Order: sequence, then C-alpha cells, then structure tokens
Amino acid sequence: MTATVIDGKRIAAEARAEHAAGARRLVADTGVVPHLAAVLVGDDPASAVYVRNKRLACEQCGIRSTLHRLPATALQHELLALVARLNADPDVHGILVQLPLPQGLDATRILDAIDPSRDVDGFHPENVGLLSQGRPRFVPCTPAGVMRLLQATGVQTAGRHAVVIGRSDIVGKPMAMLLAQKGVDATVTLCHSRTRDIAAVARQADILVAAVGLPGFVQGDWVKPGGVVIDVGINRVGDRLLGDVDFAAASAVAGAITPVPGGVGPMTIAMLLGNTLRAARAVASARAGAGASLEASPS
Ligand code: NAP
Repeated sequence: MTATVIDGKRIAAEARAEHAAGARRLVADTGVVPHLAAVLVGDDPASAVYVRNKRLACEQCGIRSTLHRLPATALQHELLALVARLNADPDVHGILVQLPLPQGLDATRILDAIDPSRDVDGFHPENVGLLSQGRPRFVPCTPAGVMRLLQATGVQTAGRHAVVIGRSDIVGKPMAMLLAQKGVDATVTLCHSRTRDIAAVARQADILVAAVGLPGFVQGDWVKPGGVVIDVGINRVGDRLLGDVDFAAASAVAGAITPVPGGVGPMTIAMLLGNTLRAARAVASARAGAGASLEASPS
C-alpha cells in the first residue's frame, strides 16, 4: 500500500483564509481589530523564527501583532510585570509567551499569570480544565490542528482506536483529550517512555499520533495496515527537518500519513490565528453588551 499524503499546507491555507475573512468581518461589524501580543525572551534563533512566522501569518490575515522582547537576563518579576501590563491592555486580545524560556525563568508561573481569556495557546490551567470537561475555550494549537487535519481528510474517529505517543502538556495530553471528546468518540491509548511494548500498542492504532521528539522513532512495522499516521515531530538533524515517524517505511503500510515538513506544522499557526480571532470576538461581543460566551463562539 502507498499512503495518501495529507497536505497540511493546503488545509492550513484554507483555515487561514477563513480566519482572514472572519477578521475582516469583525473589523467591519465592530471596529475591533484582533491583536496578538507575542513575548520573546532571549536570543534563541529557533524561537525568533517561530515568533516571526506567527507574526507574519497574523499580518497576512488582518490580525495586528506586536512583539515584546526581553533580554535573556530578564528576571522573573520583569516578565511577570510585562504579562500583567498586556493583561491590562484592553486592545490586546491574545498573549503568547514563546517557549522555551531561558534558564532561571519559571515557565509554569509565567503561563499561569496570563489572563485565561487571552491565553490563545490554551496552556492556562483554566483552559486545560475546560478542555478536559468537554467545553473547550482555547484548544492548544498543535492538537487543534491535528483535529482539523483529520476532519478535512474525512478520517472517521468514532469507535476507532487512536494511539497517541507522547504525553506533554502542549501536544500529547490535549491530543488524547480531544480524540476522546464526545462527538469525536475515539477510544484512546496514551503512550509514554514507560509504556511496555510500544510497537505492539502502536500497531493496534486506526489513528496513530506521534509526538515524541525522536527522529524516525515510529517504524514501518509499528503501523497498522491502512491506518492513519499523524507525525507531530519536528527534529532538526543537520540541515534536514525530520518527523518522529520513518516516513518512507510507514507510508508503505499506512492508508494516510502527514509529511514533515508540510503536515502538522502549518496547522499550528493557523489554529493560533483562529484562537486570537475567537478572543477578539468575545471582547467585541462583551463590548456590545451581548453577554459574550466564548464557548459558544463560532471558530
Ligand atoms: P516533550 O515535551 O519532550 O514530550 C515528549 C513525550 O514523548 C514525553 O511524554 C515522553 O515521555 C515521550 N517519549 C520520549 N521518549 C519516548 C520513548 N522512547 N518511548 C515513548 N515515549 C517517549 O515533546 P513535545 O513538546 O510534546 O514535542 C514532541 C515533538 O513534537 C517534538 O519533535 C516537537 O518539536 C514537536 N512539536 C511540533 C509542533 C508542530 O507545530 N508541529 C508543535 C509542538 C511540538 P515521558 O513523559 O515519559 O518522558
């Protein structure tokens, strides 16, 4: 079998076009211009590229973006003060603190300090709690992007066995929660570094999501024939970007597979734009006295 390659670039472009249209409508109807504030601490080149790409995508979609930089030597209280200032700014709808933070800064404390109604990364405990209760507000962008890829590809999830490898707060755990939500209805197994015979578990997956951070970790004989393989991994090896899946071997067995690059990666930014737009809509409807309900807002 040769797998269908799931085109994340195309699906992300569709999502971005929807968000651009949504942003135009919001501005025309309410005068509210969606605004994402990005916080970059230190000089990590990869983080700088990620932030630049996110800001560029915002601007292409009619979402205002501002960059707030602090040196690598910034102290915890200085970063907390910046977050407090952004929380208090009525024109800021989304706040994103680019991770990882330089050593000495406590990422958990910083993320907890972001106003949950502006937490467009979906990492604040309040948003994690809402997601776990099945009434999501801001869904973390990468797993949200995977869900959109599955939907756009027409992958059936109800009653299927989904195996997620990796249990990080950013990808694996929210991914498992989303797949298990009512209405999605997959039966989910969450694997990690202590899982026994992970290859045998993976082989049972109708939908296999790899979010491990080890290049080529998932091998061809871990894949169920005809299954769907979603590779979240982004691993720089020399001058190449490799996923967590051995693409050549897995695509000989799978029914559909995402490539790296060009699979999940482009979806992450597209979902960030959607979350920022959702936050701005909630502010606009609250201002209009319409009793904003973030949960009920369309994407
Ligand atoms: P992470 O925080 O390092 O988590 C990795 C997870 O993999 C952990 O749960 C770990 O298990 C598990 N793991 C590690 N070695 C394993 C093994 N030998 N067997 C089974 N499980 C193992 O990573 P992350 O932030 O979730 O990111 C994962 C990958 O996705 C990375 O390549 C990252 O660059 C990529 N990523 C891509 C995007 C995108 O936009 N496409 C976004 C975010 C991340 P334990 O919990 O037991 O340690």
